[in-house]
Amino acid sequence: MKNIPNTFGSMVFNDAVMQLRLPKHIYKSLKKTMSEGVHLDVDVANEVANAMKEWAVEKGATHYTHWFQPMTGATAERHDSFISPAGEGQVIMEFSGKELVRGEPDASSFPSGGLRATFEARGYTVWDTTSYAFVKDGTLCIPTAFCSYSGEALDKKTPLLRSMEALDRQALRVLRLFGNKTAKRVITMVGAEQEYFLVDKEMYLKRPDLVYTGRTLMGARPPKGQELEDHYFGSIKPRVSAYMKELEEELWKLGVYAKTRHNEVAPGQHELAPIYNTANIATDHNQITMEQMKVIANKHGMACLLHEKPFAGVNGSGKHNNWSINTDTGVNLLEPGGTPSENAQFLLFLVAVIKAVDEHQDLLRLSVATAGNDHRLGANEAPPAIVSMFIGDELLSILEGLESGEGYTGGDRPQMEIGVTALPHFPKDSTDRNRTSPFAFTGNKFEFRMPGSMLSIAGPNIVLNTAVAEALRQFADELEQGSDFKSDLAALVKRAFSAHKRIIFNGNNYSGDWVAEARLRCLLNLGTTVDALPEFISQKSIELFAGHGVFTELEVRSRYEILVEAYSKTLHIEALTMVDMVKGMVIPACIDYQNDLARLLSRKRESGAGYDASLEDALLRRCSKLSADLLERLSRLEDALSEPGLGEGMDALECAEYYRDGVLAAMSGLRAVVDRLETIVAKRHWPLPSYAELLHSVV
Ligand code: ADP
Ligand code: MG
Repeated sequence: MKNIPNTFGSMVFNDAVMQLRLPKHIYKSLKKTMSEGVHLDVDVANEVANAMKEWAVEKGATHYTHWFQPMTGATAERHDSFISPAGEGQVIMEFSGKELVRGEPDASSFPSGGLRATFEARGYTVWDTTSYAFVKDGTLCIPTAFCSYSGEALDKKTPLLRSMEALDRQALRVLRLFGNKTAKRVITMVGAEQEYFLVDKEMYLKRPDLVYTGRTLMGARPPKGQELEDHYFGSIKPRVSAYMKELEEELWKLGVYAKTRHNEVAPGQHELAPIYNTANIATDHNQITMEQMKVIANKHGMACLLHEKPFAGVNGSGKHNNWSINTDTGVNLLEPGGTPSENAQFLLFLVAVIKAVDEHQDLLRLSVATAGNDHRLGANEAPPAIVSMFIGDELLSILEGLESGEGYTGGDRPQMEIGVTALPHFPKDSTDRNRTSPFAFTGNKFEFRMPGSMLSIAGPNIVLNTAVAEALRQFADELEQGSDFKSDLAALVKRAFSAHKRIIFNGNNYSGDWVAEARLRCLLNLGTTVDALPEFISQKSIELFAGHGVFTELEVRSRYEILVEAYSKTLHIEALTMVDMVKGMVIPACIDYQNDLARLLSRKRESGAGYDASLEDALLRRCSKLSADLLERLSRLEDALSEPGLGEGMDALECAEYYRDGVLAAMSGLRAVVDRLETIVAKRHWPLPSYAELLHSVV
């Protein structure tokens, strides 16, 4: 790619294109809609649609789609062509304002958690004017929100936008108290670092587990894993490098700020990080990134694995959600400032986040809970399932100093009084390097490290924005009533810190001691998705979301149902895939190998020449013993899957519990035997590429 600035965003109907192609008054009213959410009138929509179509056709588009994010966590699109009959067998290319603004996909097959029975299949999509349209693979994609006819959100974008508004509303109240009259909006900014694995496509296709479930359901430990830690930041192999280059070029054309690329800890594992953007655009862009990662890997003869834990015993993949709150005037409210008043404001926002994370640990945990991520959290490479916060020693001493009234003694300023003294300067690096914390302050933003690599970042950001909005609401309520702002503020910061400091932990989150310590602090430890999900429908959660207009109670309940069912379905598919693989691949391999051994053994014995047959004999004994175990474990899994009442009589949560305690346990029992057999059966009989082959498959 020669001229990156010229190619960047070349497939995006962005501000520059709009200015160039729209009449001035149309451009102005569209901008008003974009920045202030003012309703778009029909004439404007028609003009915009036409300009968009002309532009898209020049970019090679023949179709358009309302691109949306249903509750599956992926994106959905239905393509319609621009053609319209023009008489005499001719067509013209047309696209109306109505088609731009609103679509009606037949949405009956998207999960709605009972919000919309299939017989009333209609939902509709509405253009999200805050995220630019783009052309991808010959189709004009219009980012949209997806709702039911009665107005319930059926997607991930609508509640994300609502949560951003909730935070905006409450943060502005707080800013006004500090005398800020210039900020018009407070915006959530997000940068999502994306980890992924690349494996050779031919090998990938030989593993039904990877193809159907995204992870390996069996596989013995490789002789060379990640023990040497020689992969992290290591030099990038030419084949991977060619892939990364093409990926970045495609992302740049689509307006995604792909910035950083490097190898990760495990062999075959890599990371891409973009420059941060507003939360909803970051979410759209992360979806585009994941999709392009797969498409381009395929072109390069590879498969991109986005599962949270594709290989047992090897690092999984996460998605670090870097989050900050900023004003439209460009001030990052999580950046410690240079003046006493700026710092008082910073401390208030800081304790608001501390309070939010402590009070809504359950929801943060829940926002990253999936069957896949359960394998990753707490596996000594990712944070445990316990939510805690890292804020660094300096900030902790400052807050402790304020709490005790003794001031901050770690720096050059012995006394620290909120709103009177400036914060001591602390170097950014000192807050940056606790890699074990689920939720770390990294100088001017928080990094939430629990999300798994496959997750849509909408969920965690919805929770984060809403929880912080609630903390700020309570603060604003109190401070607006007060009489002496400065002393009220100091008292509030102190009190909030005292009440919520148990959530702060600056030590090693991977250590066993932390689990015990967290228990003493009464922090939640929701080990599995099934433990976490019920927290979503607690009274506290419903009040939080409904109170800020993010989810109605009905929306919370429907989403809960979808999540519970998704858990059971994922495990069901995994279990069936495993049964198929064992019956169709593993058992025949065992039989073939035993057949070889038995034949040789009998030939040696029959020959009467006194050959030593102890090796064949020992291997055959071990193999037949393990085969018997295999059969036994296979039957247990099959029995678990045919549990009477499963799916019918059982309530959805009971069913999910059953999958976790019954089916998953039976799967690991079976896996253990298969993995032992893999180390015994001759390689030429073993039908599956091994871990070593997969992890080092891209050379
Ligand atoms: P790391 O040390 O984790 O690699 P970086 O500073 O490189 O951290 O940032 C990682 C991610 O955080 C990038 O996507 C970056 O754009 C994003 N980021 C940086 N500053 C902010 C901010 N103020 N708000 C949100 N995200 C940010
Ligand atoms: Mg990071």
